[in-house]
Amino acid sequence: MSACGNCGWPDDEPSEVISRHRTSEGVLSYVRCVCGRIELRMTPYGSASPIAAVTPAD
Ligand SMILES: [Zn+2]
Repeated sequence: MSACGNCGWPDDEPSEVISRHRTSEGVLSYVRCVCGRIELRMTPYGSASPIAAVTPAD
């Protein structure tokens, strides 16, 4: 868990998500903190908890 480097507000509770863009790497989002700091954040695909998994057989 990280927090804003400016005011310490938790990163998972941004005051505003300005925009989101899907890229080949994941979802790129611009979020604005309560202190006004704007952060560019990359959320790789698959970082969320998996809803299903398959283990390949040898
Ligand atoms: Zn902040």
